[in-house]
Amino acid sequence: MSTLPEIPLSRSLGSPLLGDEAGLTISSIGWGMWRLVEARLSAGEIDALVNGVLDAGITLFDTADIYGFNGAGGFGDAETLLGTALGANRALRSRMVLATKGGICPPLPYDQSASYIAQAIDASLKRLNTDRIDLWQLHRPDVLTHPQELARALDDAVAAGKIRTLGVSNFTVPQIDALQHFLGQKLVSTQPEISALRLDCFENGEMDHAMMRGLSVLAWSPLGGGRIATPVSPREHAVAAALDACASEQGISRTLAALSWLMAHPAGIVPIVGSQNPARIAEAAGASAVRWTRAAWYAVYVASRGVPLP
Ligand code: NAP
Repeated sequence: MSTLPEIPLSRSLGSPLLGDEAGLTISSIGWGMWRLVEARLSAGEIDALVNGVLDAGITLFDTADIYGFNGAGGFGDAETLLGTALGANRALRSRMVLATKGGICPPLPYDQSASYIAQAIDASLKRLNTDRIDLWQLHRPDVLTHPQELARALDDAVAAGKIRTLGVSNFTVPQIDALQHFLGQKLVSTQPEISALRLDCFENGEMDHAMMRGLSVLAWSPLGGGRIATPVSPREHAVAAALDACASEQGISRTLAALSWLMAHPAGIVPIVGSQNPARIAEAAGASAVRWTRAAWYAVYVASRGVPLP
């Protein structure tokens, strides 16, 4: 069993306002279950996969109520698969920090009204076979819900002991601040898409805001959904070549270089590995040992931008 560096969920910067009252720690790499249903694994294979992830030292498990939805049905199916594994092997739950998301409501597409959020949290708890979710995240912003109404529903769920900590995903900086303004507790995380192919967060203020507020940054699709492993466009090939330069120097794979490239950022980005392949997940856990020079890091950044930095 390996150990990854443990980091606080929500980085305390010394201010009492920014303290993480729940005191949770997570591994520096997470594992995501967006693709779990499509992997079509048996119950035994899912148990082995979950154990393999934990044995690799990865404790942050990220799912969502929408995972498994295929446009017609399947809502909740990824949570149900994990919940079934947790029900069959009770020792697993205490080894992980369980994160899920809600607020996408097909075919609407979004609902974050207080009544919807309350029932969505209850439904996730039931499917996941647990009495508490460690990190509950708003999946995408619902512009039709006033943040005060949303904050009250979330505070109620925390007060009822159903949720330990709260986070957001795909929220803009002003949307995060508006929700935080009305919340009775500190948001602990934000989950944007970040990879060597997706640089928006570095340039639109999201990373700076997360560091200022002490939010943990969880990166979704850290390999660009697999395009870093199998580049197609000229831009993707250029990024792959820049990653390969670091990878060959350190004797590692391109994908490991891509994950460690994110982790080298001062916000301490936590990549959520999306592979459902146990060997690839175990390999990903080695990313925290990879080191970057400034020159090599910026070479990847410039390759992705396609134009030199000024
Ligand atoms: P990713 O790590 O960027 O991509 C994973 C995909 O790349 C898998 O299909 C994997 O296939 C493939 N892949 C091909 N070669 C690989 C290699 N050498 N190493 C590793 N993977 C390789 O992540 P993602 O699945 O797109 O997203 C990761 C997680 O982010 C999700 O599970 C979910 O938790 C979260 N997410 C959140 C949002 C949001 O809106 N908040 C949106 C999307 C995703 P194999 O399985 O065959 O290895």
